[in-house]
Parts: sequence; structure tokens; C-alpha cells
Amino acid sequence: MIKNNNKIFVTEPTLPPLTDYVKFLEKIWKNKWITNKGEFHKKFEKKICNFLRGNNCSLCANGTLALIIALKSLDIKGEVITTPFSFVATANAIHWAGGTPVFCDIENNTLNINPEKIESMITKKTTAILPVHVYGNPCDVKRIKEIAEKHDLKLIYDSAHAFKTMLNNESILQYGDISVMSFHATKVFNTIEGGAIFTKDKKLKNKIDFLCNFGFSDKETIIGPGINAKMNEIQAAYGLICLKIINEEIEKRKKIADFYRGKIKDINGIKIMNKIKGVTHSNPYFPILINKEKFGISRDELYESFKKKNIYTRKYFYPLISHFKPYRCLSSASSKNLKVAEKIANAVLCLPIYGNLSFDELNKIVDIIMENR
Ligand SMILES: *Cc1c(COP(=O)(O)O)cnc(C)c1O
Repeated sequence: MIKNNNKIFVTEPTLPPLTDYVKFLEKIWKNKWITNKGEFHKKFEKKICNFLRGNNCSLCANGTLALIIALKSLDIKGEVITTPFSFVATANAIHWAGGTPVFCDIENNTLNINPEKIESMITKKTTAILPVHVYGNPCDVKRIKEIAEKHDLKLIYDSAHAFKTMLNNESILQYGDISVMSFHATKVFNTIEGGAIFTKDKKLKNKIDFLCNFGFSDKETIIGPGINAKMNEIQAAYGLICLKIINEEIEKRKKIADFYRGKIKDINGIKIMNKIKGVTHSNPYFPILINKEKFGISRDELYESFKKKNIYTRKYFYPLISHFKPYRCLSSASSKNLKVAEKIANAVLCLPIYGNLSFDELNKIVDIIMENR
């Protein structure tokens, strides 16, 4: 079978079996209830919460709105310490909630926010920390919690990459005041567009639900200025079916990641992410770091040589968020403040990874790396 004119992209959406989905759609057509917390929304909210072992889940239309609402629900304004090594939505959400992102450098091994640098970024205006579990690897949650408590800061995790990330047999969603997930098409698990907010605080979940639905607490009462961030029945039904096949997808990704690891681990000038003790994740990405001096060619040259063979790798996360126009004027965006992040952003390349990737295709990808040595 010829796929996409033989093009290999960095990912492919995990699609639920169509015949099952059609059955659910027929039910929705019969119910004549297509959004506003219908039967499928309620069911999916419960199921995903149990599946991910989170607490008090609120579904959202997408991950960005989920982040904005999470920040709003805790009345976060002022300065929010975050990482420049993420998708731009992390900083955008802080801006839309009325705050200012403050960029903190990252760690060399996990590529997550460096807890040892967080305290030096705290000022009188700091109200919260918004770290990201980049590529599904957990942040140093213990250390970050200590810092947040010591300085009385709110802690919100952007867990967009951390679908089913477990730390010592505990869900990563158990950390922080709030943890936010994205179910966008490019993530391991998707509802086409979608997101979710998790919190241990039941009262906070109520507030989050109001904020997602214009601020309504009942048909005639508005408790505050909310927004419209509801997930609809078409998405929720899709999510319910996607959940049935997601463990199989995660298993396939594990095999692919192990294959890459085996082939790439001894190549001079390419670094892969070490497995972290006590951590399992869903392999949302397979990043490699290229050292031009040792490998022979640069990250950009390797990217181009993949492209010539119709393989579309991605430079996640290049450029850093701190280089984008809305943020580069911030004092924390200076390269001097972000030495590790700058170095990593110029070296990283994410290889294709998704369940349907064949071993023929994987060999083709690895061969291109070998040819360029
Ligand atoms: C995908 C992503 C988001 C945004 O999620 P959407 O559902 O696309 O709005 C936020 N943060 C990170 C780290 C992401 O990768």
C-alpha cells in the first residue's frame, strides 16, 4: 500500500476504528444532543479520569483553553515561571490569562525546567510555576513542589506530552495544584482537538467547569466571566473509542523506541534520552541530539537529508519560545539566561514515531542516519 505518496511524517493520528465510531454517531443522531455535557461527555470524562488515574477531570475543547482556564481558576496574574523549551501554547496561555511568562533554563538530561534555577527567577511579582513534562519525561516534581510551597506559589503542570506518564507507579497527574492535558491530533491520544484539566481539589473542579461554560452555575446564574471551552459529543464519543485502542498504540510505540535506541545508542555524536528509573511514558516523541563536531554534519543538514528522502522529521522545540516575537523582549528571554535551552534547541531532531510505522520504514530512517555518519 502506498501511504501519503510515500511521505513519512513525524507522527500520524491514532484513529479509532471507523465502524465503532459510526455506531456511536448513530446514537448521537438519535439522541439529538450534540454538545453541552451530553451522555458521551459524561462517560468519557469519567473513563479518561480513571484510565489516567487523575482526579476530578474537566474536559475541554483543546489543551490551550485548558491551560488558560487552569490559570484563571487560580486567579494567576503577574509573573509565571516556565520553560522556553516547549510548544508556544505554554507561554501563550500565560499571556491570555493575563500573566507574563518568565523563562527559566532547562536541565541537560531531562530537558525539563531546572529546579535549581527556579528560585533565582522568583521576584515579588511571581505567582506561579508552570513547568512542562517535555517528551513525556516527568519534571523533578518533588523538588519543584518544595520550591512552590516555600515561596507560596501555585503550581500548574502542562502535561500535554505526559499521557500515561507514571512515576514510581503513580500517575504524573497527581502532582501540582492542577495538571493539564492536550488531546490534539498530533498527541499520542487524541479527540481530534481536545484537552482536560485535573485537580485534587473538588471545589476547584466546580469553578473550572463554570469557567468552561460561560460562567453558568445554573440556567440563570453566572458566578464569574467564563469562556466557552466545552468538548462536544462528537469529540467525546471519538475519545471513548480511541481509549479502547490506545494501549495497543502505546505498546507499538515502545517497540519502535526500543528499536531506535538499539540502533542509535552507539553512534558517535548522537545522544538519545536516557530512560529514567521508575518512569514509564508513552513515547510521544523520539528526540535525538546531534553534536555536529562529533557526528560530522549539523542537525539542520541531517533534517534536510531526511527531507530529500521524503521523511519529515521535526525540530521540536526550535526556535525556543523565548525567540518568538511576542516574548523575545522579556529580560528572561536573553540567551545568557537560557544557555542549556539554546544549545538543546539547536541540536534536537524528533524522528518519526507512531504505531503504524513499519520496520521497513524504520530501517530506512536509521539507514539515513548511518549514511551521514
Ligand atoms: C500540544 C501542546 C499544547 C496545546 O494543546 P492544544 O490541544 O493543541 O491546544 C500545550 N502545551 C504543549 C507542551 C503541547 O505540546
